[in-house]
Amino acid sequence: MAAGTVQTEERKAKRRRVRKRDIYRGLVLAFACIGAVTVIVLLAYGIRLLADGKAGAGTSHMLIEERPSIDVELLTPNEYSRPQLALSEVKGIVIHYTANPGTTAFQNHDYFEGLKDTGETHASSHFIIGLDGEIVQCIPTSEEAYASNSRNSDTLSIECCHGDSTGKFNDKTYDSCVELTAWLCTRFGLDPETDVIRHYDITGKDCPKYYVEHEEAWTAFKSAVAAYIKSHGTKVSAEEYEQYVKSQEPGGSRQ
Ligand SMILES: [Zn+2]
Repeated sequence: MAAGTVQTEERKAKRRRVRKRDIYRGLVLAFACIGAVTVIVLLAYGIRLLADGKAGAGTSHMLIEERPSIDVELLTPNEYSRPQLALSEVKGIVIHYTANPGTTAFQNHDYFEGLKDTGETHASSHFIIGLDGEIVQCIPTSEEAYASNSRNSDTLSIECCHGDSTGKFNDKTYDSCVELTAWLCTRFGLDPETDVIRHYDITGKDCPKYYVEHEEAWTAFKSAVAAYIKSHGTKVSAEEYEQYVKSQEPGGSRQ
């Protein structure tokens, strides 16, 4: 009988040990699960922070709230200079020179306007910057201009007036071009280092002449645009940026 009691005690003890072991395993499993979930949450949060930091460091979420002073003088719709083709996406800004020394922004505007009657060629530009730094807009930024050949469909164009045959922009024209380009870059989420190009970069044409022939002057121009964004822009969240872009497009027909 005594042996039987011992056996029962041993069995009870064994059962207790098994129960203890099960509880211990359960606890280990529970802690492992909590640990894994914590690691996943932290990783996701860290990746988001990194992504936000990256966006903030670039220009994609920089905004220049103050719109440059623009004289909006849209061309009459016509097949030679304002074909009203929708520009669904803006992937770049193309800088040109008028190749017509001493002419004013309005003379160039009127030349584009006159093409509807003369039918002489297909030509236009979204913006023209004059010798006094005035900015004249000919085409809404929602439409194509006839300026940049194969890139008409996804870029905005800026024609700059110049005083002489060197094609160099005077200070007023240059400064307005920097300001307008910077503002457009922030408005369309473009990087001045890679998305601001010359007509030359598309077709090899000597346009804008001075900035094709003086590579360092072109590099300096892009740096000036980047510096302008840094000094005049404010960093905003992706949501605020989206809201701003929407607010700039009343009824989807942005200028
Ligand atoms: Zn050009």
